[in-house]
Amino acid sequence: MELRWDPLLREWIIVSDIRWRRPLLPKDFCPFCPGSEEVPESGWTVLSLPNKFPSLRSDAPPPNIKSDKLYRVRPAKGVCEVIVYTPKHDATLADLDVENIRAIIDLWADRFEDLGKRDYVKYVFIFENKGRIIGVTLDHPHGQIYAFPFIPPLIKRELDSSKRYWKRTGKCLFCTIIEKERAEAVRIVCENEDFICFLPFFAHLPYGVHIYPLRHVGARTDLTDREKDSLASILKKILRKFDNLFNMSFPYRMVLHQRPTDGKPYPYYHFHIEFYPPYREKDKIKHLGGVETGAGTMTFDYTPELKAKELRESPET
Ligand SMILES: [Zn+2]
Ligand SMILES: [Zn+2]
Ligand SMILES: [Zn+2]
Repeated sequence: MELRWDPLLREWIIVSDIRWRRPLLPKDFCPFCPGSEEVPESGWTVLSLPNKFPSLRSDAPPPNIKSDKLYRVRPAKGVCEVIVYTPKHDATLADLDVENIRAIIDLWADRFEDLGKRDYVKYVFIFENKGRIIGVTLDHPHGQIYAFPFIPPLIKRELDSSKRYWKRTGKCLFCTIIEKERAEAVRIVCENEDFICFLPFFAHLPYGVHIYPLRHVGARTDLTDREKDSLASILKKILRKFDNLFNMSFPYRMVLHQRPTDGKPYPYYHFHIEFYPPYREKDKIKHLGGVETGAGTMTFDYTPELKAKELRESPET
């Protein structure tokens, strides 16, 4: 296992010939249910566990290949963890009560701090893949964490843009987007005292909503107690809206974008959550084709205003 540098796109690729060796689990076995393997029988609501088949490891071996000027390699040093959301195998994040979601949010913060402190961790990436349709093999509600030894490219691009905007205007780019979305008000899905959920003017996917805290904060750890409760409640709301609109347990990829943990200040960055759902309509998958994957340009077949309206009108309970 190692990291290989792509000199064309200037980004790291995680190469590992370990992960494909993952055993096929017996049909009725769940490694995240109480009592199985390292999961305690009782006394917990949320748990973090080491990922048994990590792409990044704190004890990553030195690469087998020699690095040269063009083809650079480095150890795949980092951490991969799993966050088990609840002892209940058949629940989903949308089903959990707000207190349970709040416990997940608190655990995200703990892991962000703990992993971010390690000198080789430059970025703590927290996310959830949900649904068999996007390739998730374990149904038990869980999310994941990748603690990277570098800042991943999408975050890097957001950091660069928000830094440039900050220098030019003295303002936060994300705060300005909130102002703009609130003024136009046609893409807002729901709001509470501390958070706004909307489909951005520049949405990439038909249901690719973003959630921003109204206050300028760089990471989940900077939220106040009330804001953490507000985040739990708006998360539950949007997930219920998805489930109700599609009349199914809605699959998605959800990612947290927070400031890096490389010790440098990022006053211009603003914590937020992004969703990447695979659907474009009920029973219709948004396939990423040549234009999206080969050119890096997204095509949006509807308007964000229309999709935001669908979600806004979908019941939230
Ligand atoms: Zn389970
Ligand atoms: Zn801001
Ligand atoms: Zn982002």
